[in-house]
Amino acid sequence: MNINDTIIALATAPGVGAIGVIRVSGPATIAIVNSVFRGKDLTEVPSHTIHLGTIRDEEKIVDEVLISIFRGPNSYTKEDVIEISCHGSPYIIQQLIRLLLTKGARLAKAGEFTQRAFINGRFDLAQAEAVADLISSENESMHQAAMNQMRGGFSQEISKLREELVHFASMIELELDFGEEDVEFASRDDLKKLIYSLKGLITRLTESFTLGNAIKNGIPTVIAGKPNAGKSTLLNALLNEEKAIVSDVPGTTRDVIEDVINVDGIAFRFTDTAGIRTTEDKVEAIGVERTYAKMKEASVIIYLIDLINDTKEDIEKQLAYLKALKVPYLLIGNKMDRADANLLNALESENALMISASQKENLENLKEALKTLVSLDDFKTGNTIVTNLRHYESLMETNKALDQVIDGIDRQVTNDFVAMDIRNSLFHLGQITGEITTDDLLENIFSKFCIGK
Ligand code: GDP
Repeated sequence: MNINDTIIALATAPGVGAIGVIRVSGPATIAIVNSVFRGKDLTEVPSHTIHLGTIRDEEKIVDEVLISIFRGPNSYTKEDVIEISCHGSPYIIQQLIRLLLTKGARLAKAGEFTQRAFINGRFDLAQAEAVADLISSENESMHQAAMNQMRGGFSQEISKLREELVHFASMIELELDFGEEDVEFASRDDLKKLIYSLKGLITRLTESFTLGNAIKNGIPTVIAGKPNAGKSTLLNALLNEEKAIVSDVPGTTRDVIEDVINVDGIAFRFTDTAGIRTTEDKVEAIGVERTYAKMKEASVIIYLIDLINDTKEDIEKQLAYLKALKVPYLLIGNKMDRADANLLNALESENALMISASQKENLENLKEALKTLVSLDDFKTGNTIVTNLRHYESLMETNKALDQVIDGIDRQVTNDFVAMDIRNSLFHLGQITGEITTDDLLENIFSKFCIGK
């Protein structure tokens, strides 16, 4: 990729706004902007200063703007960067960008500013990816995970692993140099111990992906129960509350994400709600295979008992079934407003939470219980959590390669084979932070960014 040219893009969201910010980066940034700016001579002003002036196309004023100037390497991309704050009219923005293009800038591709920041060594690949996560974070836990990754928490763990492996590889390769003399610089048992401890660390990281994925995409949650237990009423009550909160904020036009509720910064994503929403009896009675599979896949089940229509025997059957699934569940007695007293007693010993979905009663307690059900301990203690599928896959590949190293040592293969397996594991580890990259990989990662980032 060419980083010798100067790129330009709108950095704020497209559409009408109070202001729009156009970002320019690259070697000719200051010269290009200066050629259309009337105010101070931008080639003379110090870095990290702001200047009021006009942008002119020949003599015609296009807009009155503020210029923020960042001289490389003290900028986001480590190149010379200018941010032009203009009036937020799509027409003005278009005219300004068009004008700067005629002066020699070119339109930036998606994520190209961040890609340059990566290429110029501002941060590694995992940190660059965290920038995209940060921008798209929608709740506290997503935000915190992305922020930790961007600030290098994850990268540090990966570099530590890498250093140990490099050290390991160097010992093996040293032995290779002395090949004829049959020396051994490290006992094979010590080497295996080191590999096992690395595998332990990697396994902890790969296991955290379940949580990481839940944080990023929402915790897969299923509402289940017999037909007419009140599933759709509950779902709508929970979701409508969310939507009300969002649309109460004046001027917000953001799309509501369907079927996700936020509980204290944790997203619960209701899966397979289509059946609940469309027809009443689409979600089959208990015992049907499809329901079983659906519940089995969930991370959390909200199970509704119908306190008006169920019988004690019914409830016992449902409970046995629910417990056999071995998925964390919340047992809910619904329709408490008209509950059969016998049924209330029967459920008491089961720690059920009584609610009324239609009266919206006790829903706050339900949410609280939901939050307690999912253990986010790792998250709270600040342990590194893998949230990115690409990182997860690379870690799994690294682990596989390490298995081969152990296998090689056990089978007493020659050192050059062991060295090859170690290099293979280093290759996979290096892909996470970007020590090892290919154009395809970069293209794939940065094309998912928005333009202007
Ligand atoms: P689903 O088949 O499980 O999705 O059940 P629905 O949500 O369609 O509810 C079935 C019936 O139970 C509807 O007539 C609801 O109005 C009623 N219902 C739901 N929740 C409550 C509740 O808390 N109290 C009472 N009395 N009726 C409820």
